[in-house]
Formats: sequence, structure tokens, C-alpha cells
Amino acid sequence: MAERRPSARDKLREYFLTHERQVLDSDTLRRIADVSEWARRVRELRDQEGMDIQTHKDRTDLRPGQYILASTKKRVIFDRRISKEIRALVLDRNGFTCQMCGIGAGEIHPYDGRKVQMHLGHVDEEGPSTLANLRTLCSVCNEGLSNISADRPSAIKLLGQVRRAAMPEQLEVLGWLISKFPDHSAEALRKRTTSDGE
Ligand SMILES: [Zn+2]
Repeated sequence: MAERRPSARDKLREYFLTHERQVLDSDTLRRIADVSEWARRVRELRDQEGMDIQTHKDRTDLRPGQYILASTKKRVIFDRRISKEIRALVLDRNGFTCQMCGIGAGEIHPYDGRKVQMHLGHVDEEGPSTLANLRTLCSVCNEGLSNISADRPSAIKLLGQVRRAAMPEQLEVLGWLISKFPDHSAEALRKRTTSDGE
């Protein structure tokens, strides 16, 4: 039986899997894929196969043109009945963020202390697998484990909740915000120090 020759996507998948957590640049990936459309193939691995490939849009320690397979665990778990095109559109719209609790793929969920995997879930369980009836959900919300409202909280409501929380919880929020927005945090601190000195 003749072996199927590996496609550009196969080659890239293999390369990412054997270089987990290493920063790979666009020149390397172009050379491995050996096709001009290598970047599109990388997006397919991420959006259609759910590989946890991150770029400068996901983390501030990467520059444009750098890629990293953060984990060999799939970041999104698909329902096989959902078409590739619909999956990609839902992920593009929802930005790998849980539409119930707002946590991002790959973050540690405070509810169970585990790394978040995203699912594509139906808004109306009995409804069709259409763009309007699908949304990204983290494992916790997908399994209905946390009792978090489906409504996106307004900033005012959210700040009210944080203000009412005890200091350990507030510090946890602070730590999470700093790790999510390190550059913004440094900038905010710098401004504060400057104005204090006046
Ligand atoms: Zn969630």
C-alpha cells in the first residue's frame, strides 16, 4: 500500500508537536511547510483542529511572526456535527473566550484550578448547529458546574462585586489582571509613580 505523502499541514502539525513550548518563527514554519500559504495552514491547525498555537495576539512575550504550541492538549473540543467553517466563524467571533464566565482558553480556571479547554456549545441544546446558536464555553461552564450568570456583567456591576469582596479575593483579581495585562499594569504603575513624585 502506497503511503500518503504528508501535506504542508501534516508537516506543520508534526513540527509543532515535537517543539511544544518553543518559540517558532515564521521563517522556520515557512521552511517546514514548504508552501507559500503556510500561515493559513497554521490557522487551520488552531481553528479547525483546536491546537493550542498562540501568537503575539494571545501573549505579550511573543513578537509578530512568532508562534508557540503552548500545550499539546487541544484548546477547543469540537462536536463532530459542527462543520469546520462554522467552528472557525464561532471561534473568530468569540475569540477563544468563554461566553458565560469570560475566561480565556489556556488560562487556569479558578473554579477547578485546571487549565481551561474550550468547547463549542449550543445556546439552545435542541437547536441547530448554526452560527447564531453556537458559542464557546469553557469546560466548567459547559458542564454546568459553575453557577455563573449567562449575562455579561457590566463594568459597574463587576466593580461593585470586586469592591464587596474580601482582600484575598481582590488580590487574586489583581494578580490575574497583572498576568493578563502585564504591559498595561507596568504603564499604570509608572504613571502613578510619576504623578506621586510631583
Ligand atoms: Zn466559563
